[in-house]
Amino acid sequence: MADTLKGNRLRGGIRPSRKFGEGRVCAEKNCETRLSQYNRREYCFAHAPVRFPRVRGRVVPEGT
Ligand SMILES: [Zn+2]
Repeated sequence: MADTLKGNRLRGGIRPSRKFGEGRVCAEKNCETRLSQYNRREYCFAHAPVRFPRVRGRVVPEGT
C-alpha cells in the first residue's frame, strides 16, 4: 500500500489542483467562455496570449 502511494508522487505537478475551481470563465470582460477545471489559464483559447513554442529554435543533430 505504501509503495503505491509513493508512486503517485511523480505526476509532473506539485500544485494542488484545488486552486483552480470549477465554473471559471475567461478573464476577458465580454467573454463568458468556460474554462476547464484543469486549465490554469485565465483566458479562453480565443483570448489567450499567443505563445510560440521555443522548441523549434533548437536543432537536433541527426545520426549522433
Ligand atoms: Zn475569452
